Amino acid sequence: MLDCAIIGGGPAGLCAGLYTSRGGLQNVTLFEPAVLGGQITKSSEIENYPGFFDSSKTGLDFMETWQKQCFHFGLKHEMKKVKWLQKTGEHFTLTLEDGQSIEAKTAIVCTGAVPKRAGFKGEDEFYGRGVSTCATCDGFFYKDKPVTVLGGGDTALEEAFFLSNICSDVYVVHRRDAFRAAPPTLDRVMRKENIHLITDSVIEEAVGDSTGLTGVDIRNVKTGTITHMNNTGLFVFVGQDVKNDVLKDEKGEFICEVNAFGQAVVDLKMKTSLEGLFVAGDLRMDAPKQVVSAAGDGSIAALQVISYIQEQQ
Ligand code: FAD
Ligand code: NAP
Repeated sequence: MLDCAIIGGGPAGLCAGLYTSRGGLQNVTLFEPAVLGGQITKSSEIENYPGFFDSSKTGLDFMETWQKQCFHFGLKHEMKKVKWLQKTGEHFTLTLEDGQSIEAKTAIVCTGAVPKRAGFKGEDEFYGRGVSTCATCDGFFYKDKPVTVLGGGDTALEEAFFLSNICSDVYVVHRRDAFRAAPPTLDRVMRKENIHLITDSVIEEAVGDSTGLTGVDIRNVKTGTITHMNNTGLFVFVGQDVKNDVLKDEKGEFICEVNAFGQAVVDLKMKTSLEGLFVAGDLRMDAPKQVVSAAGDGSIAALQVISYIQEQQ
């Protein structure tokens, strides 16, 4: 039986792997079917991780040393997807996609949440080269420049507000004339002079060249008129795909408490409502969705797992 099963190999999972292995647990396996490193491996650069300041390195380069460090201290990796998790008596049973069952005393779930794509022309082509889904990560690249934000929910308007303190002007494009965001958030945005709301409109196309995004074509859905804007930054906030399937049992029922957005409810120790089960990183409620915070969560969950196992002995 594993001391701990870590599910998901992004910054939260790898940091949990480092702390559990180096903290004396002999039998820890991390389950990750894709490239180790998580979402940040899709980024062409990272500027806001303390101590890492090398613009020639990509997110993939950055995460490579994390896995080497984990393996050095004895973490094992299974390149397999976990289908679901169940607590049977005092321990957990993981069911893998190939049908195999694995038993573990504890589990740390770090499967993240992926920003949804809107589906306009050029979105994929310029993703990471002007099209972004993270204002905290990329806003600074557009300091004193105009940017476009797509979406009319809480995230879009909160992030537009954040960008308005860095960028010269923020053009919020929303497909309807009513906003889904909470009224106080909308009020705050409407009072900000450099935020401009462009309603009943969608992004027709993100346009650019080999240097990246050079502008956006915005189509008014009522008149059909297309307006071109020369903004080199386009932030897309059209919802999140919360990767919480692992937190459901065979019958599709959640095994721990989740909030209205499907994110795991945790306390400051990353404990869920189910004893022995911890959630770390972007999958948890109120996550800042940053590498540094996901890693911090992973370390907290790992230290709790070590204490939990000691208490059980
Ligand atoms: P993730 O990184 O999402 O990792 C989750 C992992 O779980 C994935 O590898 C996935 O394959 C795996 N998984 C999912 N389901 C299963 C399953 N059923 N079984 C097993 N494994 C599973 N943050 C910053 O701080 N600075 C930046 O500059 C920055 N830039 C970014 C640029 C881009 C393009 C993107 C997409 C994100 C960026 N972020 C940045 C955000 C940062 O990447 C995330 O906040 C962080 O990766 C979250 O870590 P995590 O470990 O919680 O989840
Ligand atoms: P969301 O509420 O689902 O909003 C997504 C927005 O994107 C909507 O305005 C939607 O338009 C638009 N959209 C969706 N698909 C699109 C497409 N293909 N093209 C153009 N526009 C598209 O997502 P969210 O803002 O990420 O919020 C997710 C949840 O977290 C919400 O329940 C939200 O309240 C919550 N949240 C809360 C806070 C907070 O309380 N402070 C902060 C952030 C998020 P329509 O409106 O027309 O559908």
